[in-house]
Order: sequence, then C-alpha cells, then structure tokens
Amino acid sequence: MRRVIDSHVHMDGLGDADEVIRRAREAGVDAVVAVGGSVESSAYALQLAGRHEGYVVPGIGVHPSEALKVDHGEAVRFVRENVGRASLVGEVGLDYSYPFARSEDARDRMRTLCSGLVEIAAEMGLPVSFHSRSAYMDTLEILRRHDVQGAVFHWYDGPLDTLRLILDSGYYVSATPAAEYSKGHRAVLADAPMDRILVETDSPVHLRRLGRRSEPADVWLTVHALAEIKGMEPGEVAGIATHNTETLFRLAP
Ligand SMILES: [Zn+2]
Repeated sequence: MRRVIDSHVHMDGLGDADEVIRRAREAGVDAVVAVGGSVESSAYALQLAGRHEGYVVPGIGVHPSEALKVDHGEAVRFVRENVGRASLVGEVGLDYSYPFARSEDARDRMRTLCSGLVEIAAEMGLPVSFHSRSAYMDTLEILRRHDVQGAVFHWYDGPLDTLRLILDSGYYVSATPAAEYSKGHRAVLADAPMDRILVETDSPVHLRRLGRRSEPADVWLTVHALAEIKGMEPGEVAGIATHNTETLFRLAP
C-alpha cells in the first residue's frame, strides 16, 4: 500500500531527477505524478516514467502560460502522437490572471489550445490535471463540452460556489503546501470533503516558510497542513488522498 503520492510535480524543474526520486522514496513518498507543461517537459516526463516504471506517473500537456508561445498545431500533434504513453493529460488549463492574458484575443488562443488538448483526453478516456485561475467557469464549460470523465483542479483556491460545481461534476481539487497560509486555499480545503482532495507540491514551487524550492518529499508539508484543517491524523489524510489519486489516475493500488 502506498503511503502518499505527490499528485502534481514538474520534474523538469528539479535538477537531478534520480536524486530527487531517491529522496522522495526515502521520505515515504511512494509515487509522483509528473505533469508536462510543454512539449519538452512532457517528453521528459514520459522518458522518466520509462526509467522509473510504476513510480513516475507521466502527464502530457501544455501549460496555459505557453499558449502564446507555442505553435498550437505542433503541440496538439505532439500530444496526439504520444498520449498513448501517458496516464493523464496535464498540466493544461486557463489562466486569465497573466498580464499577457488581458486581451480577448489572448484568452481565445488559450481556450483553443486547452480545448484541443482536453478533446484528446476525452477521446482517450484519460483524466486531466487542470490549472485554472480567474477562468473557472470557462474551464468548467470546456470540461463539460468534452464530457471529461475525471479531472483535478490543481491548487484550487477559487470561489466556494464554483467549488460546489466542480464537486457536483465529480471532479477533484488538490492541496499544496500553501495550505499552511493561503486563506483562499484553506477555505476550499475546509469546505471540500476529504474524499475529493489530492495532495501535491507543484514542485519546484518556492516554499515561502522554508525559503527554498519544493520537491516531492515535501508533500508531507501538505499532508500536515491539510490534517490540521480537517482535524484528522496526518496518516489518515495521506491514506485517503492516496486512494483518491489512485482512483482518479487509475493506478493499481
Ligand atoms: Zn503545476
């Protein structure tokens, strides 16, 4: 039985992956979901999954921050050609809070890219790892239009009424180490039932309190913060979150 899974990691931002994985294993992290945020990082996640079979769960996707930089046709073609080796599509999504995303034209390009990638996930019956900020209703609209079966709104800290819609659609949200201090994130985690929450680090995102970048071994920070919010034992929280991650990403227990 896995003790805990880091459900959202950017392995390409972490340096020596074998060392990072060794430290994660040592810390009792029994799998990591390596999302892809670009063609290059998706290819890297797939390559790592080949080297660490059963430990690295690979995602393939293009992050919304890349929406204006990449050739959409090329990106979609890459995902289509390689999605058979991936366990999920992600990290994809919409983020209207970026300075470059103020214009309707930029948002339109973001929606087109996201929709094209979600369509592939739906065709393949794969779950999706979503980045969504200031664009929640448009994200839900894309998911519903393509009838996506499984999805996680990673690091969700949006409105609680939208959380209701996410949960009613059968989707998950994930907790990050920001559960220690972020008011919005804490409110979401207090409100969502434990059986719809995954835990993650979004490594290498900077850890404010520790003044260093995160890595998968730090997922226990998330577990402890979430346990405090829920008034539960960390071991119990880790067990439920692990089960949720296995269910969403269809990992053999
Ligand atoms: Zn991420």
